[in-house]
Amino acid sequence: MHPDLVALLTLQDEDTAVAGLESRRRDLDIREQTLDQERATAEASIARTLQAADAEDKKRRELGMKVQEHRALQERHLAALDSVRKDREASAAMAQIEITRRVLAQEESEMQTLATRIADLHQAAELEQLSLGELEERQRTERAEIDSVRAELERDLATARAQRTETAARVGRPLLQKYERIRGRENSNALYALRGAACGRCNTAIPLQRRNIMAAGRSVEVCEGCGVLLYAAV
Ligand SMILES: [Zn+2]
Repeated sequence: MHPDLVALLTLQDEDTAVAGLESRRRDLDIREQTLDQERATAEASIARTLQAADAEDKKRRELGMKVQEHRALQERHLAALDSVRKDREASAAMAQIEITRRVLAQEESEMQTLATRIADLHQAAELEQLSLGELEERQRTERAEIDSVRAELERDLATARAQRTETAARVGRPLLQKYERIRGRENSNALYALRGAACGRCNTAIPLQRRNIMAAGRSVEVCEGCGVLLYAAV
């Protein structure tokens, strides 16, 4: 076998192991993002409810000011009624009082509706806040589990990467560079065994002369079909 080949095959196994650990770590990240999203959705919903309550409260304050103005107006109408002498003026003043009374009744009823709505919204926000607390409690266990698995993965990754570096140092530089270039490009294995007379990956036939060199253990060849490294399995 080619002197570098044993080391390169080991390196490939170790790179596969590293990639597996990295993929498990990405899965953990996704799980954590899902938890974050769940929490953010609940928080956004509380914020929307409180915002709605604030908007209704603003309407109530504005309406409250109008009610005060209309009550003052009504007092002036009532005072005016006291001072009129003629029947015609009195009935005009009475009509004014009646109009203002109706407006006030309408506004006060609206105030009542707004007060109920605001109380309901605050109650809804409190319930949402309780649900959020429960959600966070539920998530606490899962987050702790994610953290502990991640810590374990990080340790395994550090070990696997150190091992990989050690193995890579045993592969000749030109071959290692070829291997790493292919691995970076293909995002999969870079080294394949010949299958019969053809590339073990893409099945392109390899000329006899090159196969003989490979079989004699003198070289690792590049497949002309797909560009991976080929070796003759002994
Ligand atoms: Zn090929």
